[in-house]
Amino acid sequence: MSEIWYNSIAMNIKKLVKPGVYSLKAYQAKEIPCKIKLDANESPYGFRDFYNVLRSIKTNRYPDPEAKNLRKIIAKEFSVKPENILQGNGSDELIYYLIATFGGPVLFPEPTFSMYGIIATALDEKTLPVALDGTFDLDIEKIFNHLKKENPKLIFLSSPNNPTGNCFSSEKILKIIEKTTQKSIVIIDEAYQPFSSKKGYIPLLNDYENLVIMRTLSKIGMAALRTGFLIASEEIIEQVNKVRLPFNLNSFSQKIACEILKKKELLGKYIKSICNERDRLFKEMSKIKGVIAYPSEANFILFKVENSEMVYKSLLKAGVLIRNMNSVVNDCLRVTIGTIKENNIFLEELRKSILNTRN
Ligand code: PMP
Repeated sequence: MSEIWYNSIAMNIKKLVKPGVYSLKAYQAKEIPCKIKLDANESPYGFRDFYNVLRSIKTNRYPDPEAKNLRKIIAKEFSVKPENILQGNGSDELIYYLIATFGGPVLFPEPTFSMYGIIATALDEKTLPVALDGTFDLDIEKIFNHLKKENPKLIFLSSPNNPTGNCFSSEKILKIIEKTTQKSIVIIDEAYQPFSSKKGYIPLLNDYENLVIMRTLSKIGMAALRTGFLIASEEIIEQVNKVRLPFNLNSFSQKIACEILKKKELLGKYIKSICNERDRLFKEMSKIKGVIAYPSEANFILFKVENSEMVYKSLLKAGVLIRNMNSVVNDCLRVTIGTIKENNIFLEELRKSILNTRN
């Protein structure tokens, strides 16, 4: 009896859910037990001791709906006005807001951060994935073809790109922005820009009205706070702000982010250490026969092996969790940069697992 009831509910749900949503697989962010966590592009360095901040929070009151203090600090950091900043519960939420505001089609290169496609599909908007070229750079001809035929409303470019780690050619990005003035909004997702040696795009905001920059605090030691932000013209921010949920960023995140952002020297020191370690890791990985490491401007390295599944499992058995990207880039894995000690253990286990898989 209970089984029949269960089946009929399942059938009705299938009929009721929007087809786009039904076709999706939920984003996999499983917690896999491990000793060394190098799978989610987090920083190995966190911050603690916020007793005074916590004491000042009134739990019976809603958070500041406009996140005024936080937006002020961020605006100062990037030499823009607070009116040019929009806060999000992580930049994931801002991707949602952008697509809800402007609609589709939504163009993005492939492979890239999966949420652009997932959120567009969930919102019933057409997606236009365009394969990267053999050097993981933008295929400008294919993109221009899509611009002509499909007229995308939004173009998401993650630079540095996740999971490939490289920055796209700035000439190509500029060509796309210029070609789409008055037609599309181009979002440069600078989640990994703090680790990049290449110039970011914030200084270009004055020159191009269709440009939006997206940033996050998640990669620089504040993933727990779920805090991201957009930087754009007041006109764009005003429109996206209409779909923002009123109290989207909680009081704890707002206040703790303000405190941590004051520690500029420490933040800079951590970022430098991650970049140094990335460069060392890249050199060491490149010495291992059977590993092709791709140069990275981010806090992770994509690398190719003969059998990614075997390497992934052997590392996990040794307690080192990385990300198997095989379904996205053939036989590739992605490792996040950790502390010196964590990276050394990863290197040792990688060497061992490659030897084992080759024998
Ligand atoms: N953009 C890119 C390119 C990312 O890789 C990620 C996280 N992996 C995000 C945005 C989302 O970051 P968050 O929601 O934590 O701000």
